[in-house]
Amino acid sequence: MLTGKVALVTGAGRGIGRGIALKLAEYGADVIVNYNGSEEKAKEVVCEIEKMGRKAIAVQCTVADYEACGKMIDDMIKEFGHIDILVNNAGITRDNLVVKMTETDFDEVIQTNLKGTFNTIKHMYRPFIKQRSGRIINLSSVSGILGNAGQANYAASKAGVIGLTKSVARELASRNITVNAVAPGYIDTDMTQAMTDSAREAVLSQIPLKRAGTPEDIAETVAFLASDKAGYITGQVLSVDGGMAI
Ligand code: NDP
Repeated sequence: MLTGKVALVTGAGRGIGRGIALKLAEYGADVIVNYNGSEEKAKEVVCEIEKMGRKAIAVQCTVADYEACGKMIDDMIKEFGHIDILVNNAGITRDNLVVKMTETDFDEVIQTNLKGTFNTIKHMYRPFIKQRSGRIINLSSVSGILGNAGQANYAASKAGVIGLTKSVARELASRNITVNAVAPGYIDTDMTQAMTDSAREAVLSQIPLKRAGTPEDIAETVAFLASDKAGYITGQVLSVDGGMAI
């Protein structure tokens, strides 16, 4: 389904990003495994992808740094020849009620989740336009759709990702480039492990399908959006949340 394609997945050393990187490789893509702090884990993902017979490289870069994103993308295009699929998965939380939230909590989340998504998209604009093809898939969140008490910074960043996705989709549609967002609900990863047991139970009780999602659930959706099968889908936000946002 993705043979001959090269994918850049941000934050691919662990969690949902890891699941996406492995799934894209399983469907035939070569994968650029971006990480920020998790070097060892990113290298393990590279090993797993190589075992599938695909090419992979781990590359350190914080998506919050505009210049660093530009360098990563230039270097990787030199290394792989082209990038066909950009998955903006890197994300952080700094949860607190606004009354206790610091300015730094707000700024850091926006800088990584929203500006980081802009940074990679901006640097892929020219290569994608030159190729007259490309797929961009951005990770939003159910919090960006519904809002969530204690996550004003995070929900704002993820709602921002939706606006960014739809705007860029309009800008790039005439160049045969599709841009979509995936909005996960509650997925079992390090991010959600940080919640207290009672908070987790409260969230689980709100999921119509009565279970937490897995990185695999998200990865399959991303792989579909990255494939030729999704060639007529752009500017959409696909909720993969067990029905949370119904
Ligand atoms: P995790 O906390 O498990 O992992 C976060 C990932 O983001 C890590 O790979 C981390 O890399 C990477 N990352 C964080 N900051 C940066 C940065 N500045 N530059 C590059 N990479 C960075 O999160 P999840 O896997 O759960 O989440 C993945 C995405 O899905 C996020 O965008 C999140 O907001 C979204 N999401 C998750 C949900 C969930 O329930 N888990 C629900 C809705 C959305 P490293 O370890 O190398 O620092």
